[in-house]
Amino acid sequence: MEIDGNRVVILGGGVAGSVVAKSLQFHAHVTLVDPKEYFEITWASLRSMVEPSFAERSVINHRDYFTNGDIVTSNAVNVTETEVLTADGHRIGYDYLVIATGHADPLPKSRRERLNQFKEDNQKIKSAQSILIIGGGPTGVELAGEIAVDFPDKKLTLVHKGARLLEFIGAKAGDKTLNWLKSKNVVVKLEQSVDLNAFKDGQKIYQTSNGETIEADCHFLCIGKPLASAWLKETVLKNDLDGQGRIKVDEKLRVKGKDNIFAIGDITDIPEIKQGFLAQQQAEVVVKNLKVILEGGRECRMETYKPHSAIAIVSLGRKDAVAQLPFLTIGGRIPGFIKSGDLFVGKTRKQMGLNPDIVQA
Ligand SMILES: Cc1cc2nc3c(=O)[nH]c(=O)nc-3n(C[C@H](O)[C@H](O)[C@H](O)COP(=O)(O)OP(=O)(O)OC[C@H]3O[C@@H](n4cnc5c(N)ncnc54)[C@H](O)[C@@H]3O)c2cc1C
Repeated sequence: MEIDGNRVVILGGGVAGSVVAKSLQFHAHVTLVDPKEYFEITWASLRSMVEPSFAERSVINHRDYFTNGDIVTSNAVNVTETEVLTADGHRIGYDYLVIATGHADPLPKSRRERLNQFKEDNQKIKSAQSILIIGGGPTGVELAGEIAVDFPDKKLTLVHKGARLLEFIGAKAGDKTLNWLKSKNVVVKLEQSVDLNAFKDGQKIYQTSNGETIEADCHFLCIGKPLASAWLKETVLKNDLDGQGRIKVDEKLRVKGKDNIFAIGDITDIPEIKQGFLAQQQAEVVVKNLKVILEGGRECRMETYKPHSAIAIVSLGRKDAVAQLPFLTIGGRIPGFIKSGDLFVGKTRKQMGLNPDIVQA
């Protein structure tokens, strides 16, 4: 049944947007806009490169958890005070808008294509004797960990332009990670970068900024992706972005000064490290706040979101990890036990109302 004034449009079906779509689908008329037909558990993607069947559980069609609402498979390209325009020409009117477009990461449209991409990455790893990983943030480190554990015979080099690994968290975590990688015979080169513009396909020699030469059969580029907010710069929200392109939100996670537009996840200016589990918590706050509004409740019943201190677990292969907790940084099997086996995939599937193990054909 359609009730006037209850159209919720969600831009982005990633970690944050998918939670809102799932949780509000029976409380409002919900439309999810995403260029992909699926939601991907991002922290499982590196395991899926060494074990492609892992992605069968971590790449989830939006329709599997969002059964009662509309899906528009396209990019949002404009937003006015009343509607959203998509690249494929849809105009979608909204009463409430939730922006959760995260980072720009051009991925295939269908789940099948994404699963095939993991198979191709896996083939690339298997057929190489030597592999270069460019980037020593969480993605590069976790990929190095996966390859080092599953393919210990590969010659692995990781080049990072910063002075230490994992700069998004503390130095202790970076040091423990460096020691772990060294113990697995990964060659780590810090304060160097690789210019891929000078690299030609088929060539197996890479030059670093220090003039060093690295020989590798293939490479993986694991550097940070830009925010997916460039499209907002020509819209009614252009003044709601900070200098880095992040959307400025208030403590109720509304775009500052707007009563009916919310923003969550990596795209916001919330002063905390950008993490999926925090994006999920923000999504829960917006779900509660939208329910209050949709039920005609007063603003004082709405929840506020408080930024968190930097907590993170970075997996190092299947059994180890390094964890930064509020007063402690630990490495090894204990944090590995928490994260590195299933990478929270079963838990996340349960949160999405899905069987943690079985995937329907
Ligand atoms: C390899 C990797 C490992 C990670 N590991 C962890 C971890 O272990 N723990 C953790 O907590 N976090 C982890 N993170 C971080 C986590 O994935 C992000 O913080 C989280 O995905 C942010 O959620 P989001 O919904 O804001 O953005 P995303 O999950 O990036 O989703 C954005 C969505 O918006 C869509 N989109 C983009 N542009 C548009 C547009 N114009 N119109 C419509 N839709 C659009 C995209 O298709 C995507 O579906 C990891 C990230 C990566 C890449």
